[in-house]
Amino acid sequence: MIEIKKLHKSYATVTPLKDVSATIRDGDVISIIGPSGMGKSTFIRCLNLLEKPTSGQIIFDGEEITRKGYDIRKTRRKMGMVFQSFNLFGHLTVIENLMLAPMDLLKKSRQEAYDTAMQFLQRVGLADKALSYPDELSGGQKQRVAIARTLCMNPQVILLDEPTSALDPTMVSEVQAVIRDLAKSGKTMLIVTHEMRFAKAISNRVFYMDEGGIYEEGSPAEIFDNPQREKTRRFIRRLKVFEAVINSKNYDFIAFGAELDRYLLQNDVLPVYKNRIRLAIEEVVQQILFPNLPEPDIALVVEYSETDGNCLVSVDYGGKRFDIHDSENQTSLIMLKNTAESLTYSYRSDEKRPNRVEILIKKG
Ligand code: ADP
Ligand code: MG
Repeated sequence: MIEIKKLHKSYATVTPLKDVSATIRDGDVISIIGPSGMGKSTFIRCLNLLEKPTSGQIIFDGEEITRKGYDIRKTRRKMGMVFQSFNLFGHLTVIENLMLAPMDLLKKSRQEAYDTAMQFLQRVGLADKALSYPDELSGGQKQRVAIARTLCMNPQVILLDEPTSALDPTMVSEVQAVIRDLAKSGKTMLIVTHEMRFAKAISNRVFYMDEGGIYEEGSPAEIFDNPQREKTRRFIRRLKVFEAVINSKNYDFIAFGAELDRYLLQNDVLPVYKNRIRLAIEEVVQQILFPNLPEPDIALVVEYSETDGNCLVSVDYGGKRFDIHDSENQTSLIMLKNTAESLTYSYRSDEKRPNRVEILIKKG
């Protein structure tokens, strides 16, 4: 139904979308997730031409809507947008808010517009608020009205940009319930959201956006339970990552230690944990690897998961095959094992740094 080809959008100083291509089919409910600033809003705003793409094509029902001279209002009628901040007219009653666009843009009669509006107000559970003004409603009610207003235009596609993120936590579920009901009805929807469980429950596809495009896409099970790519995995597991490359015999371990401490502090890592992480790194890098590597080329990654408190230290290094279990430094090896829930070595011959040690830091 919508074919997006090589969509590119740049602003004066940033390029949030480098190259986005995707096909959206009838009835798809697509959740768009990803770190903030990665172009999720830009992407859906480009889809209904609220933003003008810098280059690339969007083809909607066989018609290229990005071509010169295309009537933007036509697109707006087919694609409804629900914003984080509701965007209701404060000087109009709820029912007037809902009747406005259908009368104006679809040239519906007053009666027709009224009937449709009441029908959708009922659907979102707010028929009794028809004569209220937006200010008399709670945030959750306002957003339900905003969704009903979008439905009154009978759009083929509904775009929702973080529809619950401006709401008080107690009101999130009523809005989610309305969106879930729409998703089940077979409406085609794209929804930018930070609520992973919600995304998992309603969508048939998930786009993870990063690096200027759709970095990984898949079913909710694929993306949430078994993401394939590094950044997706880190985002889903809420991993806090610390990285360093140690590539000189004269490496500044004092500055390194200070950086590591800052990372541990920022992420509220428990003190007992901190000591194990520091100790594990010192034993592997300084005591075991350094004496064995004539020219050190070590990439160190610490991943701390906010969701389960697991901490994984992985150490990749170049040079010939060297399993740290074979180290002559037995004392350091014992110290290292004491910090670890598990300690594994693997050799991946096709990698730049083929040796890998993974230490899952002991908890509790
Ligand atoms: P997300 O929704 O994923 O958080 P956005 O699409 O809002 O990201 O923004 C992506 C990037 O584009 C950000 O760096 C943002 O500052 C920038 N950006 C968004 N809109 C504009 C604009 N109108 N002018 C200039 N820069 C913008
Ligand atoms: Mg956004």
